[in-house]
Order: sequence, then C-alpha cells, then structure tokens
Amino acid sequence: MAILVTGGTGYIGSHTVVELIAAGYNVVIADNFYNSSPEVLNRLKTITGKDIPFFKCDVCNKDEVEMLFNTFNEIDAVIHFAAYKAVGESVEKPLDYYENNIGGALCILQAMKRHNVKNFVFSSSATVYGDPEIVPCDENAPANGATNPYGWTKVMQEQILRDMCVADKSMNVAILRYFNPIGAHPSGLIGEDPNGIPNNLLPYIAQAAIGKYPSVRIFGTDYPTPDGTGVRDYIHVVDLALGHVAAVKKLFTNCGLVTYNLGTGKGYSVLEVVKAFEKACGKTLEKNILPRRAGDIAVNYANPAKAKAELGWSARYGIEDMCAHSWNWQSKNPNGYKE
Ligand code: UDP
Repeated sequence: MAILVTGGTGYIGSHTVVELIAAGYNVVIADNFYNSSPEVLNRLKTITGKDIPFFKCDVCNKDEVEMLFNTFNEIDAVIHFAAYKAVGESVEKPLDYYENNIGGALCILQAMKRHNVKNFVFSSSATVYGDPEIVPCDENAPANGATNPYGWTKVMQEQILRDMCVADKSMNVAILRYFNPIGAHPSGLIGEDPNGIPNNLLPYIAQAAIGKYPSVRIFGTDYPTPDGTGVRDYIHVVDLALGHVAAVKKLFTNCGLVTYNLGTGKGYSVLEVVKAFEKACGKTLEKNILPRRAGDIAVNYANPAKAKAELGWSARYGIEDMCAHSWNWQSKNPNGYKE
C-alpha cells in the first residue's frame, strides 16, 4: 500500500509527504520540478529519515504516467498537487493553465482507472467561492465564482470529479478547498520558495524582512473591513498537510465524493498579518500603501466545521506560529532552495 503524491516536492506537497510518513503511510513522490527543486528530496530525507521513492514525471505525459503506475503497483491512493498556481500568469496564459491543470488531472485519473486505483484527493481552493455573499463561508456556498483562469481550472476539475463519481460509484474523492496556506515546517528545512517576485502576501513580507524589498506592499486600505485592508483565513501549511492525512483516512472508509474547507475559521487583515510578522522577525517593516489589486475581494474566511465533524481535523497553529515558522524558514534559507 502506498500514497502517490503528485507535486510532492512543491510547497504544500512536501509538507504533506512529511505528515503522511509521520502517520505511517508509504509514499511515492512524482514531480517534474517545474516549480520546485530536487533539493527538497534531500530535505525530506533529513526530516523523515527515509529514502522516499521518487519518479520524475510530467503528469500531462500519458506514457510517463503509465510508467509511474507500472513501476509502483502498490499505489492505492493519489493526492494530486501537481498544477500551475499563479493567478496573474493564468490571466496571461489561459490555454497553458487549462491544458496543464485539467489535462494533468485527466491523465492521472485515466491512469488510476486503468490500474484500478479508487482513491483521489484533489487540491482545490477557496477561490472557487469567488466573492462569497456570506462569511464564514461553508461548503454549500456557490462554488462557481472564479475570477481568473487559475480559479476556473479548480471549478472545472471539481465538476469533472463530481461527474466521474456519478458514473463510477466505486471511486472515493476528497475535494479539499484550501484557504490561504502560509508558514513552514518548524525545522526550517522546507518552506515556500516562489519564483521571482512573490505574488502572495506572506512570501513577499518574508522577503522584505530579509531585505530583498524595501517595504511590504499593502494592496488597498479602503475595503469595508475594520482597518480597510483585505481579510483572509491564513492556515499553517502543516495543519493543511494534516488535513490531507485525515482526508486519505476518510477515503479508505469508502466515502464516495466528499468536499471540505481547510481553513482556521478566523480572518486576519493584511495589517494584522504584517504586525504578527514584525513580532516574529523583531523588526518594523516599511509599508507601501498601494491601490487595490485587480480581482481581489474584501473578505473571505472559512467555516471549517464540516472537516472537524467528519474528519476529526481542525487547525491547531495560530497566526504567531505561522509567522514565526515562516521567518525561521526564510531567514535560514534567504534564497530558498537555490544556493
Ligand atoms: N496582499 C497585499 N500585498 C501583497 C500581496 C497580497 O496587500 O504583496 C493582500 C491581498 O490584497 C489580499 C491578501 O493580501 O487581501 C492575501 O493575498 P494573497 O495573494 O496572499 O492571497 P489571495 O487571497 O489573494 O489568494
């Protein structure tokens, strides 16, 4: 028995591999290092003490995926992380996003069908809720509100999975809708290593704190929120990883298709996050107040009650630990995995 983790050297994938192994699962990692580094495999070995089987493979390449499933015939569940994830880039290259994200998922699902693998965990996103009418947002809120091609690839893949499960009652699928993952493994050995100028709030703050940027960017101070800045549900990446372990356990109960929010249930504003990070790194950061970023919403945070009730999972880390671990990773690895 083994769990295949596609995109297992990426940010969320690598943390999930650690928690799967800690929970006693055998893991196979598949990745093509499109957006990650082979160095992650060394770091995973240091953390887990294990040589984790690795297969270099593009999830869109049918022959490579077939070889992967032939090589590891003990795979009985797949956690599918491998995908493009940059919102802005998806607006510029929509066809690449649809081809890679949807094509990759279809290629994996077809291989699972050929090899009689019945259990699938899908990386979805709170972006499927668009600008939710009610917060905290639960799983029954309309989930067809994406505002960019990246988000639409998530909406469409969710639909593909629902259609598949109608047609094939033997499949078990967990759709996990992530809120805003931040932080890093407490060891500081693995963490988020974005290419180029970070898009997301946390890696930008962390890189400003080590001196790569003169200030942190505050995108909009005129939102209808207590301090005027956007509010999100930031979740520690280790808690998110543990949510995947709980989802895998659920799949093995033959649950059919299930959908869960993975968030903390608590919203923090951009200014509150900057303040928490300042405390973690012991410095005051310059703030550059800018206009709103196109496509951003004012507020979204999760109602995580369903995951707690059905998976027995809830997030444990608070914002202080998230920022402390993010700073620990960034200060120990100022250039990420590049040396
Ligand atoms: N944000 C910001 N400065 C940045 C990046 C993001 O003020 O450098 C804000 C953004 O407007 C949003 C929040 O931080 O309110 C989270 O943005 P992020 O891109 O991390 O995640 P999103 O929720 O947009 O997927």
